Amino acid sequence: MKKVFLMVLLCALTFSLYAQNLPVKMEEMTAPQYVNAVDQSNATCIIPIGVLEKHGPHLPLGTDLIDVREVVLRAAAKEYAIVFPPYYFSQIFEARHQPGTIAYSQKLIWNMLQETCDELGRNGIKKIVLVSGHGGNSSFLPFFCQSQLASKKDYAVVLFQPSRNAEAYKEINKELVPGGSGHAGQSETSVMLAHRPDLVHMDKATSQSGKDQDRIKGIDSDYEGIWWYAKYPNHYCGDGSLATKELGEKILNAQVDELVTMLKQVKADNTILEMQNKFYEQAKHPMDTKQ
Ligand SMILES: [Zn+2]
Repeated sequence: MKKVFLMVLLCALTFSLYAQNLPVKMEEMTAPQYVNAVDQSNATCIIPIGVLEKHGPHLPLGTDLIDVREVVLRAAAKEYAIVFPPYYFSQIFEARHQPGTIAYSQKLIWNMLQETCDELGRNGIKKIVLVSGHGGNSSFLPFFCQSQLASKKDYAVVLFQPSRNAEAYKEINKELVPGGSGHAGQSETSVMLAHRPDLVHMDKATSQSGKDQDRIKGIDSDYEGIWWYAKYPNHYCGDGSLATKELGEKILNAQVDELVTMLKQVKADNTILEMQNKFYEQAKHPMDTKQ
């Protein structure tokens, strides 16, 4: 009896040690590890999404992805999930006038994301969490999520939408200079300073203006695609020279905490997939839906 107990304990210990040693980066897993990772993560994969675009005169082209992957990797180390490899295919037409912008067509970014999700689904993933590090995706990604209802999927796509309500954000907000944060501004530069200071060229942060140039005037209640260019032609919004490493670390920690909470909830949830399946079934025969 004692022997059996010891054997079970040993097996459990070996299994948990094995799980602890699983990589979080999908590209670093062996195929057998991947099978185990799907199980350990409750079939959850995170796709951190960035883009290649100018970030003021002082931050690297890949800032969005470099930052968002740091947040996601820290979160996945606390709450296990598979992290998809570097993903640079998202919406960035508004920066096509700047050097280093890789603006794939709308069809390509759509198909790339849909086929990536389909392939993850074919490989056992049931929950795909999109975490965007790029503000230019704020229309694309919610529309992409809505469009998953157009045809049956056996996985759910969930977009991380931080509410930034936590106490930590209140502290952070006190430190943000009004008008100083935005694209490559105080907060984004602080985050890069916190984890990749070697990529920050602080001496260049004031070499261009990040002020709102407000070049379309006299129209109320409007939206046009050129709005960002009209305001921030240098593809720079705010003032990166206000950044500090300490503020960056606070922002990173707050984002990681919020993502960890969301990951726990998504991993434990069954209702999204249940609702989807019910919906797809009913959508086949809308005339039979009780009125
Ligand atoms: Zn961006």
